[in-house]
Amino acid sequence: MIFNDISALQHASFSPTVCIIGSGPAGITLALQLEKKGISSVIVEAGGFDYITSIQEAYQGTVIGDPYFDLSVARLRYFGGTSGHWAGWCRPLDEVDFEPRKGFQNSGWPIRKKDLDPYIKDTDAILELGPLQADVPIDANWKEIHFEFSPPVRFGQKYRKHIETSPTIGLLLYSAVTDIVPVPGAIDHVKITSMDGKQQRLSAKLFCVCTGGIENSRLLLWANQLHNGGVVSDAGTLGKYWMEHPIYGAGSAILLNTFSMRTKNHHGIKHYAPTARFLHSSGIGNVGLRLFTGGAMKALVRHGLCIAPELFTELAQKIRQNVACGAVLRVAWEQMPVSSNRIELDTEKDKTGIPRVKLFWKKQPKDRQTIETAVQAFGIYLAKTNKGRLKLAEWMANGLDYPESDEKAGFHHMGGTRMASTPAEGVVDSNCKVFGIDNLFIGGSSVFPTGGHANPTYTIVQLALRLGDHLAERFAV
Ligand SMILES: Cc1cc2nc3c(=O)[nH]c(=O)nc-3n(C[C@H](O)[C@H](O)[C@H](O)COP(=O)(O)OP(=O)(O)OC[C@H]3O[C@@H](n4cnc5c(N)ncnc54)[C@H](O)[C@@H]3O)c2cc1C
Repeated sequence: MIFNDISALQHASFSPTVCIIGSGPAGITLALQLEKKGISSVIVEAGGFDYITSIQEAYQGTVIGDPYFDLSVARLRYFGGTSGHWAGWCRPLDEVDFEPRKGFQNSGWPIRKKDLDPYIKDTDAILELGPLQADVPIDANWKEIHFEFSPPVRFGQKYRKHIETSPTIGLLLYSAVTDIVPVPGAIDHVKITSMDGKQQRLSAKLFCVCTGGIENSRLLLWANQLHNGGVVSDAGTLGKYWMEHPIYGAGSAILLNTFSMRTKNHHGIKHYAPTARFLHSSGIGNVGLRLFTGGAMKALVRHGLCIAPELFTELAQKIRQNVACGAVLRVAWEQMPVSSNRIELDTEKDKTGIPRVKLFWKKQPKDRQTIETAVQAFGIYLAKTNKGRLKLAEWMANGLDYPESDEKAGFHHMGGTRMASTPAEGVVDSNCKVFGIDNLFIGGSSVFPTGGHANPTYTIVQLALRLGDHLAERFAV
């Protein structure tokens, strides 16, 4: 059922049990899971079916620290959310990503990989993925890994018809939630501001904030400020421990036949990652090494002939015989969560009256340690096993700053409302429920306490399915 404003919803006498704020992958997945359990919901969405500049402007904000993307292009404010332009790279988090790790501060989730594994099949169906391929250890420190690629699924396009005809899912468009109003221990209603500035209230039994990895913090910080800490009473971590996946070119390689690209995926990439043993012993963040074939080879051989003529003459012959190839190494890595990387409210407000975002984001010494340790160890692995030779990028070899013209990061917005065992350590518990409030939940990557190196949407969908099951249990007799 589609409603263009709240009066239309009231006229239809539709009184949803659950109010879901936001219609991205998290919000839509949650609504579908609740529908399966016979629980009615309304998805309250700030945008409409199409991109509208005057609505998207609410996403403008300021970034303080390292170079980052314009916040108004790093996400989308309309039906389907940022899945309207995501790239579709998918992979669940590793078992080690959930574990506390010595030397990697603030790590450890209150849940484990096994808690999300039951949702693999349904997540694959939603994201239209083939079955996940298992990681293959290649020695004690390294494993070959795989990403699956969603078409990519545009949630708005895929589920519009379904939601239009669903008797249990309502979709309220052009309705920005601008306040979450508490009574002691619970949320009473949310305030909705429509495009003409009119404010109305919407009540439900349960409320789920699924507005994205920056907006979740923004909306809660704002509501908490309006109600003097009545929404997140222990707000020491709210908006903090925000994370991205930095992505940079780290070197180039010549790969020999046994290590060639025969099993590369359809994007022409082979992926490697450190084993849990390596992560625990080194204290670095998790890392995804991506070897892209082509390019770089001639320059590498020329360089190599000067420093190791015998070896590189042999390599040049192998290249001519087509049993070796060149590759460019790109690396995406996990950031150690630190409280200084955070979201704050600015003094300027958007048209709906919510203060804009100030994002503080700076790479830390642990970032540098992570990429340098991983890439050097991988280079040693290639050389020791005679599977190839790796040359570090100039900026890494010479201790220079991160190159400005590179990819920078993945548009992956994680943390800010982290999942934890106690309210002193995070905002939500292991069921994504806000500590101290009985009926307020959060969906999306803002609940990640740590981010691994895998792109976040797979885990976002798994968590939303699990949240749906948890909410359904609350209504089971
Ligand atoms: C260019 C790009 C490429 C990406 N590629 C990948 C990839 O390859 N793999 C991957 O895993 N991830 C990728 N991502 C990230 C991915 O898009 C996000 O992880 C995912 O969309 C997050 O889902 P979400 O539902 O939490 O938030 P969103 O998709 O951002 O949805 C949030 C929804 O909430 C609505 N909303 C916000 N505020 C309010 C409010 N106050 N009231 C009502 N509604 C509101 C928004 O309009 C939106 O519909 C990419 C992102 C970008 C920008």
